[in-house]
Amino acid sequence: ASLRKKRIKKTKTVCTFCGVGCSFEVWTKGRKILKVQPSEGPVNGISTCIKGKFGWDFVNSKERLTKPLVRKNGEFVEVSWDEALDFVAENLLRIHKTYGPGSIGFISSSKTTNEENYLVQKMARQIFQTNDVDNCSRYCQSPATDGLIRTVGFGGDSGTIKDIEKAGLVIIVGANPAECHPVLATRVKRAHKLHGQKLIVADLRKNEMAERADIFLRPKQGTDQVWIMAVTKYIIDQGWHDEAFIQENVLNFEEYKQLLEKYTLDYAEEVTGIPKETLMQVAEMIRDADGTCVLWGMGVTQNTGGSHTSAAISNLLLATGNYRRPGAGAFPLRGHNNVQGACDMGSLPNMLPGYQRVTDEKAREKFENAYGTKIPSTPGRTNPEMLDAIMEGKMKAMYLVGEEMTLVDCNANHVDEVLSKLEFFVVQDVFFSRTAQYADVILPASPSLEKEGTFTNTERRVQRLYQVLPPLGESKPDWQILQLVAQRLGYDWNYSHPSEIFDEMASLTPIFSQANYDVLAGWGSFCWGSLDGKDTPLLYLDGFNFPDKKARFALDDWVEPVEYEGQFDCIINNGRMLEHFHEGNLTNKSTGIQSKVPEIFVEVSPELAKERGIEDGMFVRLVSPYGACKVKALVTDRVKGNELFLPMNSVSKDSAINFLTGPAADVNTKTPAYKQTKVRLEVLKDK
Ligand code: SF4
Repeated sequence: ASLRKKRIKKTKTVCTFCGVGCSFEVWTKGRKILKVQPSEGPVNGISTCIKGKFGWDFVNSKERLTKPLVRKNGEFVEVSWDEALDFVAENLLRIHKTYGPGSIGFISSSKTTNEENYLVQKMARQIFQTNDVDNCSRYCQSPATDGLIRTVGFGGDSGTIKDIEKAGLVIIVGANPAECHPVLATRVKRAHKLHGQKLIVADLRKNEMAERADIFLRPKQGTDQVWIMAVTKYIIDQGWHDEAFIQENVLNFEEYKQLLEKYTLDYAEEVTGIPKETLMQVAEMIRDADGTCVLWGMGVTQNTGGSHTSAAISNLLLATGNYRRPGAGAFPLRGHNNVQGACDMGSLPNMLPGYQRVTDEKAREKFENAYGTKIPSTPGRTNPEMLDAIMEGKMKAMYLVGEEMTLVDCNANHVDEVLSKLEFFVVQDVFFSRTAQYADVILPASPSLEKEGTFTNTERRVQRLYQVLPPLGESKPDWQILQLVAQRLGYDWNYSHPSEIFDEMASLTPIFSQANYDVLAGWGSFCWGSLDGKDTPLLYLDGFNFPDKKARFALDDWVEPVEYEGQFDCIINNGRMLEHFHEGNLTNKSTGIQSKVPEIFVEVSPELAKERGIEDGMFVRLVSPYGACKVKALVTDRVKGNELFLPMNSVSKDSAINFLTGPAADVNTKTPAYKQTKVRLEVLKDK
């Protein structure tokens, strides 16, 4: 028995399935995963959710890519790494030489490590002199980052999950943490049940947290900003705001009060449908709370006014003095495990690593000197702008790391058309994704269990992952693939371990200047947030992140939802399920999870079901101006009236939500307004 025990390897890693950042040991024997054992993780202690515990068998899936593939005469053919890399380098150089900077776009992934994200932006900027680099936070949390950067200076949670636990009041807007951030939600459930924490939930859908809430608000779709501003105005009118905090810390108060003039409770009731008495109760609860934390997700950000609503949340927290103290603050909930890190590492068209702007001459010069190249002084293209540029024939090639664009981007039929126009397309992924069908070359990458590196969770906490298993077949960690491509392109990248990439990044990035792999060893972790590079679990203790240390009230008016012409009378909301990872391209390969949740269904309200004669299990057809889906119905009072809910984890064209969504986008960040989708529902009588 002891011999057997000896062959069991225990390796610490960080979960790849959501932004909470649980860490645990994975017990393995050969390639077999015996169990997941949480114990000392700084975020989760002894907890995990079903995905963290049982979602890993995809790493041994027979569908894994294990050899590079090159398209020859329309067919993908397995080739050697040498041939694949030569093919990539030759074509990227040809396109760069022929069409110049701006002809190749780079999309990085929040499923890959910080070090890998750093290298993607380095490849774009150093080798191809372009800022056309972005990551999938564009599809989720960029509006939150925008709203926070404009008001308080940093695009991240202002405190840690411990602050959420300590708060007197938690307000959750447009998020479903019980399914999307389960371990974090457990902390709120416990504080609410055992420690008298109050809970307000605002959502279209009565999710599990809404069931538990002291107040559940059900605003009309796309109107959150109005009730938030009305509550802020009411608090100020009643004199319940924190005048001393505002005077000391915040600019623009008088202008902000003027902007709030029209956001009366009556106006809010008319626009949002929430009774004004309920909004008064919300204001009273904020007044009485010993610290308020606001958590928000895609229900806020994936709207035409996503960045404005995020700024309105931050304004409310500023007006009530809920920054710069424990148990309070702003908490955008990051979806993928490394959304925060992908942005921190500068995989963004307007930011170098550590949120140093490409327009900041000094910062740019520092990177130019380090990289020995010129970096454009203007921001590059966002993901959607890259798609536009491809359609216009200005962008000819794309290098895509770990992103399932054809299911995740809005208006998927359009994305199919765009990608088919690329002259050259490199896809680096763990599986043959739907997007990969458009590739010219596919480079097999390793998932998190097969690599070393760091991830940064929703609370800005950087943690190390250690290699649990060797890469399957000839697959390689993304950082090694990127390095091999850079070498083929004539650049002397020579990192022998991700720690060297991290050290290079930290040497150029003030907020990481005191972080390194020694600090992060074992269960160690580091929260960025101070310009002198210190561990900073609570942001802004020394003032807000502006030269004068003052925050700013953002003067953002409400952006009305898009209008739909024609007979589209149902709003279709979408989101994750507890068991599945986002678009499902990892958990759909897990037999354990797939057997528990084999299919998806559209949630239909009892009222609508009665009106249209819909029963559980009956097929319905959903038709939007951009496409159609056929999916089974589930009648539930989680949704109401003509609002529908479709989980986002289908990889089938028949039922994937983005074959319905359209091109509307957030006014500031171009994040698609996925939540503002309308459909016509047709009942197909067959079961
Ligand atoms: Fe993984 Fe998130 Fe579940 Fe934690 S809560 S185990 S990070 S999916």
